[in-house]
Amino acid sequence: MWCNAEYFAGYEQQDAHEFLIAALASIYAGLALPENPTRPPTPADLVKMRGPSSAQRPLGAVDLQGIFTGVLRSDVACLKCHGKSTKYEEFQDISLDLSRLAAEEGGGATGYHTTLAGCLRSFTRAERLSSAERCWCPSCGALQDSTKQLSVHRLPNVLCFHLKRFKHSANKQQPPSKIESFVEFPLHSLNMRPHTSSYICSHSTHSNGQQQAPALEPLPEHLYDLFGVVVHHGTMQTGHYTNYVRCQADWFHCSDATVTPASVEEVRSAMGYQLFFQRKRCV
Ligand SMILES: [Zn+2]
Repeated sequence: MWCNAEYFAGYEQQDAHEFLIAALASIYAGLALPENPTRPPTPADLVKMRGPSSAQRPLGAVDLQGIFTGVLRSDVACLKCHGKSTKYEEFQDISLDLSRLAAEEGGGATGYHTTLAGCLRSFTRAERLSSAERCWCPSCGALQDSTKQLSVHRLPNVLCFHLKRFKHSANKQQPPSKIESFVEFPLHSLNMRPHTSSYICSHSTHSNGQQQAPALEPLPEHLYDLFGVVVHHGTMQTGHYTNYVRCQADWFHCSDATVTPASVEEVRSAMGYQLFFQRKRCV
């Protein structure tokens, strides 16, 4: 692993989220795209490499791209001229800001109880950018107050969430802290439809967070089942990762080399740091 990510060499404490990103990058590099093996393939690569013979070729980086890589859409709207700019960015996992959600919902950072659906609503809620966060509007030719809204443009078959439990303060005097909020998550049929670009854009009058958009029945490709939970035990300075993993209908708890059967209740009550879902119907 450290051959591709030098910062993992040595005996320092490491972060499971960074490990996931580095591991996927290493796999992409190992499967080697011909032109530039050190980076994941871009959409242009996908178009170039998908051909009539693709069904016969061995598993490659392009296949992994479809498994783990989704695309986020970011819409920034100028509050003066109402001009809009849209950008797309690939993601390997979605990082959810627990401290932002706690602030929005009036909860404390520690001991706060929320849900994964609540985290996702916060993630895709339009936020106002003003003061130092103002964006450059090409139509106005000036920095303007604006709104920014994220949505999921393309869902991957394996959807990974990173619950941001490690909080680094802007004040250097303040030590980093760990957020112990409990985030409830479904074991089956997580519905991603309300967080997709197509849904949010078609309900844009509701997307300012002031009003709930009417619920829509999910399509099969929007539904996900949980198959893995990574848990961090300990503090910011030192700790240990364990995980729950599902094999068919059975759950197991893995801690280093020790693997033991786990109940559904144990999984439900886990203080998740990373959550791994698989699409019910792969597309
Ligand atoms: Zn403008």
